[in-house]
Amino acid sequence: MDIAIIGAGAAAVALLDALDPSDVGSVTVLDPSEPPWRGRPYRADLDSVLVNAPPEIMSIRSGDREHYARWLDGHAPPGAYSDERLGRPIPPRAVYGRYLADTAEAALARFARAEIVQAAVTGVSLEGRPAVRTADGRRYTADKVVLCVGGGTPLDHYALAGAPGFVADPYPLERTLAGVPSGKDVAVIGGGLTAVDIVASLAARGHTGRISLVSRSGTLPFVWQRPAETGIRHLTPDRLRSLDGPVTLDGFADLIRTELAERGESWDDLAAWIAAAARRDPAANLREQLATVDTALLGRRIVQEAAHTAGPFAWRLLPASDRERLRARHFRTITSLASPMVPRNAAVLLELFEAGALEALSGIEKIETGRGFRITHAAGVRGADVVINAINPPPHAIPRTAEPLVSSLLDQGAAQDPDGGLAIDPGTGRLVMRGRADSRLSVVGDLAGGGPFLVSGVPGVAAQASRAARSIGGLRNR
Ligand SMILES: Cc1cc2nc3c(=O)[nH]c(=O)nc-3n(C[C@H](O)[C@H](O)[C@H](O)COP(=O)(O)OP(=O)(O)OC[C@H]3O[C@@H](n4cnc5c(N)ncnc54)[C@H](O)[C@@H]3O)c2cc1C
Repeated sequence: MDIAIIGAGAAAVALLDALDPSDVGSVTVLDPSEPPWRGRPYRADLDSVLVNAPPEIMSIRSGDREHYARWLDGHAPPGAYSDERLGRPIPPRAVYGRYLADTAEAALARFARAEIVQAAVTGVSLEGRPAVRTADGRRYTADKVVLCVGGGTPLDHYALAGAPGFVADPYPLERTLAGVPSGKDVAVIGGGLTAVDIVASLAARGHTGRISLVSRSGTLPFVWQRPAETGIRHLTPDRLRSLDGPVTLDGFADLIRTELAERGESWDDLAAWIAAAARRDPAANLREQLATVDTALLGRRIVQEAAHTAGPFAWRLLPASDRERLRARHFRTITSLASPMVPRNAAVLLELFEAGALEALSGIEKIETGRGFRITHAAGVRGADVVINAINPPPHAIPRTAEPLVSSLLDQGAAQDPDGGLAIDPGTGRLVMRGRADSRLSVVGDLAGGGPFLVSGVPGVAAQASRAARSIGGLRNR
């Protein structure tokens, strides 16, 4: 069997690692970026650009939570990169990129024939044996084609492209922040993990100007708690599968209630605390959450874990009206809970808030350009010399570099999922072509439609890669 993998980021690494080489004649991996394996997030950048999760969450090998931790043990001095409050190493993302590269190279060495082609794929022809076309006119045939093209880039929501002082795409911060003079007033649009990266990196560079975080909600992601065994029993895909009757949002909340009640905790109390956090001053939130990083209470850890494990499964079972309710009313809260910031970054932000160097402004209405920027928000107007874009793309966005490829598939009968991305068969990850799962085409990563609105983190991508390897017919036995 010959396999063509389009994209050489974390998803491709997970797939190569999951494939059984005895079933594979050749592997061809195509990606225009150099060096391969790091995708968008894990390229060389400032040391202040950190991974967002502890090692047990960042293993690229599904089913082996310690795979990355073992690599890190062998590649970093003891205690290096430690986030003391979390009690775990949180290295720069470029270090994680080295782990991906090492894992990919070890995996590739197992195949009889493997080739990396530095080119963008612009189309797949499905007449006869699938043939992958590159931007420079080359053609590669394969029995199976797997799309691993990643997600979108920040949106230019306020049409600021080309305005002097506007940074449309912040990464790599090493390059974009080099052009930001230290004393200038900087506004960061957005309040998610990208905004946190930018503020932490400005601080690490000794920025002296004012930093304003400007967003609709004015809130920030929650702060990681020390990992603890949650022993989830009810909020599992198996349990959801066994439920009689339709799964509704209220039914799902009842499962959370039961899960927490068995630990002597109350979902109603936790939900009230979460709702109150959205109204509190961000600095007060950071202070409180940093003080409770090692709390014995499991409730928030359970909700966070379940958002990634049971959440995608529940999403498919929920009626459309409940999915819409979640998207419209709870998108921001769920994202902030499911993808929290690491304590080390939270401490940097809190220090800046307390020193008056950082502010969070909500209710952003418009941004006008002229001499600098005028940002209208709920409480007035704020000026800035530099505006850095940290608005996350919608989940399951089609990456710009993959637009011609996706168009070619849509022309041949693929369909867009109503929730974003391409329609796939949820059991196998196969692309749906003309209404049927096509065994020649699979999708791994954010382009796979049908899931909830959370961007796939490493564990989700690794699980999808394992599913794709199985569906191709070559899952490695470990
Ligand atoms: C800034 C950032 C930080 C993140 N940090 C974390 C984190 O700390 N922990 C975590 O769990 N998750 C994190 N994530 C989530 C992240 O999406 C996953 O960790 C993971 O990188 C997804 O891997 P991927 O291979 O699907 O996409 P990517 O890693 O983006 O790789 C996609 C690859 O496809 C290539 N490609 C695109 N179009 C084409 C084409 N037409 N032809 C050929 N190749 C193409 C691209 O060049 C790229 O190399 C982060 C995401 C971002 C954006």
